Amino acid sequence: MITIKKARKIYPSKKGEVKAVDDVNLEVKEGEIFGVIGYSGAGKSTLIRMLNGLEIPTSGSVIVAGREVSKIKGAELRKARQEISMIFQHFNLLWSRTVADNIAFPLEIAGVPKAERDKRVKELISLVGLDGRGDAYPSQLSGGQKQRVGIARALANNPKVLLGDEATSALDPQTTDQILDLLVDINKRLGLTIVLITHEMHVIRKICHRVAVMEGGRIVETGHVLDVFKNPQQPITKRFVQQVTEPEETKETVDHLLDRYPHGRVIQLTFVGEGVEQPLITNLIRKFEITVTIVQGKISQTQNGSYGILFIHLDGEEEELDNAITFIGQHEVGVEVISNG
Ligand code: ADP
Repeated sequence: MITIKKARKIYPSKKGEVKAVDDVNLEVKEGEIFGVIGYSGAGKSTLIRMLNGLEIPTSGSVIVAGREVSKIKGAELRKARQEISMIFQHFNLLWSRTVADNIAFPLEIAGVPKAERDKRVKELISLVGLDGRGDAYPSQLSGGQKQRVGIARALANNPKVLLGDEATSALDPQTTDQILDLLVDINKRLGLTIVLITHEMHVIRKICHRVAVMEGGRIVETGHVLDVFKNPQQPITKRFVQQVTEPEETKETVDHLLDRYPHGRVIQLTFVGEGVEQPLITNLIRKFEITVTIVQGKISQTQNGSYGILFIHLDGEEEELDNAITFIGQHEVGVEVISNG
């Protein structure tokens, strides 16, 4: 659905030039939910704006739904934009128009007759869960409801690709989850390809199939979300993964555990998938003459399976402890020894 080849965007700046997007290659398949994550200034907005022709690359090509959007202009570009729609962090609604009129707006521009427009708006209002709110004005809605209007409006012309520019960054965590659930629902029901840019790994983990990590205008790592979580390669990716896997109290926990367990080893296990940890721990107890205690743990359920982080205390003879840790290392889990008592 999307192919980006050797895309670059260079802006002039006082110091010479800024490579906002630097030699980016990317493929997004039809029906995929693809995430692009990076800190502020990484080049995400520039990249996503290239997908709907709002930004023309300095070099390289951007092909979306069979059209080279980096080369088209005028009426052809307007047509392409109906197929590649976007939702925004601050919703970009028309404040003087009702919910129904906001959603109808792109249909009006496309010249859809009134009767058909009304029917379509009704369907869209229902699809995004805003039944009964068609006559409300944006100022009368909550943030989550405003984004539902943004989504309905973006879907009005049956796009092939939906782009999200930090679409949940202005929302509280609970509302974020509801909006992400809605996007998954739409992706499943309509088979719509979705590309989201975000600086929040939570968003990636909850709904994306694949992810690209951006830093300094480049994509430094790409992969299936589960693989990236299991085995992040780049330091920046590790930091993003820690954003969601480390409980907030981890640092305190570590200090606390070092005090509590002066002997033996405290290890941290990180794993993805259902029922990974239990057989491993059972085997440890069976195979080695050690005591095993789970001292703290957190397992969270996500769209892609479960993700867990456990602190475990092992105690016994030195040699047995070393063998046990080697044994754990042979399994598909992340293991980090945090105390060598
Ligand atoms: P992100 O969305 O990841 O925060 P951006 O794509 O907005 O990153 O910006 C990438 C880099 O390009 C930044 O250094 C930013 O200052 C620069 N940049 C973005 N847009 C422009 C512009 N129109 N003119 C000059 N520099 C820009």
